[in-house]
Amino acid sequence: MPPEGTHQSESLEAKNPYELRVNKGSTVSESVIKQALESGDIGFIHSFTTGSAVDGPGMRVVAWLSGCQFRCLYCHNPDTWSLSNGTPVPLARAAEELRKYRHGLKVMSGGFTISGGEPLMQDRFVIRLFAAAREMGVHTALDTNGFLGPRLSDEELERIDLVLLDVKAWDAERHKHLTGKDNSAVLEFARRLAARKRPCWLRFVLVPGLTDDPRDISHIAKFVAGLGNVERVDVLPFHQMGRFKWKELGLDYPMQDIAPPAQEVIQRVIGQFAKEGLKVY
Ligand code: SF4
Repeated sequence: MPPEGTHQSESLEAKNPYELRVNKGSTVSESVIKQALESGDIGFIHSFTTGSAVDGPGMRVVAWLSGCQFRCLYCHNPDTWSLSNGTPVPLARAAEELRKYRHGLKVMSGGFTISGGEPLMQDRFVIRLFAAAREMGVHTALDTNGFLGPRLSDEELERIDLVLLDVKAWDAERHKHLTGKDNSAVLEFARRLAARKRPCWLRFVLVPGLTDDPRDISHIAKFVAGLGNVERVDVLPFHQMGRFKWKELGLDYPMQDIAPPAQEVIQRVIGQFAKEGLKVY
């Protein structure tokens, strides 16, 4: 018998994470959610996508998990904020979903990335699903905002092949304004990854008027270059693909009329990271 409230048949596949998904887990009781979070027996998943070339090395299968404690003003996927918007999926079924792709991923030197939302809201599920991936010989990458990094033990960190760390702002007040949370835990997690020499890629979302301040970026670039474990930096220009979700969810979207950053601003920011000796894309 599958665990109460889980879905065995509902398709988890999406063309991309911009499909709006809500209330998929709304029938799951509080006690089942609590048990799922403690054990990792069940995960709340927005979707699985295949064919990503930007969420880690090679071709990636990506599991987009539900639940996030940040409320980024520019979030592209606000339907992932609530855990119960995700489809409740037993661990074994999620592993089977990945198993379908394992041969292709190895041939294409790719792997499996868990993103969100914020995956570490479901840290036990993440660790167990990564363990299943490793048993299949599949490379693992965790895309995280780092805030809940303390939930992972040093041993668990050793068993994740790559961390894609989102650093959203340097200035504490700016970060709080952007996300609703303090950034000290994020920076501490970055330092911890460096101290343990864990491979890391930095992801920086460039948002006009919010994260494009040259001084703030200069601080981030110097900090990241000094860590010594960051293999590359991805500058991700803000886009409007998630705008419809805010509307559908009845949320007031503060970025409603903001255009993507201009090419010269993107090039300036890439230059700021490159100046510190970092490999930037
Ligand atoms: S951390 Fe990611 S998922 Fe969470 S609010 Fe920010 S952009 Fe959205």
